[in-house]
Amino acid sequence: MLTDYHLHLRSDDLDASAAEHFTEANAERYRAAASERGIAELGVSEHVYRFAQALTVWRHPFWIENASDDLAEYCAFVRGRTDLRLGIEADFVPGREGQMAELLGEYDFDYVVGAVHFLREEAVDMNTYSVWDAGRSPEEIWRGYFQTLGEAAGSGLFDVLAHPDLVKVWGRGRPRPEGDLRRFYELAMDGIAQTGIAVEVSSAGLRKPVGELYPAPEFLQMCLQAGAKVALSSDAHRPEDVGAGYALALELLERLGVAELCVFDQRRRRVEPMGPAAASETGPASAS
Ligand SMILES: [Zn+2]
Ligand SMILES: [Zn+2]
Repeated sequence: MLTDYHLHLRSDDLDASAAEHFTEANAERYRAAASERGIAELGVSEHVYRFAQALTVWRHPFWIENASDDLAEYCAFVRGRTDLRLGIEADFVPGREGQMAELLGEYDFDYVVGAVHFLREEAVDMNTYSVWDAGRSPEEIWRGYFQTLGEAAGSGLFDVLAHPDLVKVWGRGRPRPEGDLRRFYELAMDGIAQTGIAVEVSSAGLRKPVGELYPAPEFLQMCLQAGAKVALSSDAHRPEDVGAGYALALELLERLGVAELCVFDQRRRRVEPMGPAAASETGPASAS
């Protein structure tokens, strides 16, 4: 079994509308791309902040700008008109855990992908509201990021910890701290061990300036030593990126002795042996 649970049916552009992208035909394009790559288990996880309901959790200006769609309509579309698992990518907003739990509890998600995109009011991976603009050292930003990641993992709000070392996204554009980076990873390990959250291996970093998988092999190794299970995803925002870079991800997983991937249903988790499906198992046969 191979999975791709962290998918977006549209780009992050504000003008990529729900009406245009939440369609059966678009979901089919993702399914077809997955079938070609032997990926049988697919789910969508749109950003929570694209939905008006998220403003009950946080009113950051970026969220206010993005919150145009209806979460109930998204869930009804995925459940009623696609064969995809229903997920969501929810941010960890410190101090707003109760409000986020309440929001997530109102819908019947198969899984919730938890992400740290912000450190307080400042963004890790965007040029707007950027945490990198305030003159802080990489050391300080990385420490803040991994501390917050540990809190997110330990919060119990999420099933999957998204793109775990996202802070490296900029590559040489915003240099990483010197030396052995495990001193930062260590800050997240208690939270990961406490809740047993699945750790995402994401090929998205290969498409970013950093040009690497998330997370770094050393981070993943520490998670595995802490007993973590793995969820595999591409974070595709368009069909052609579904399962992109999986060869490298699978190579890393095999090298570290990972033989199983997490599969989710109604926020219950099981593990399945890792490996590509034969084409006939992933969708309608192309020839009879
Ligand atoms: Zn994300
Ligand atoms: Zn995403």
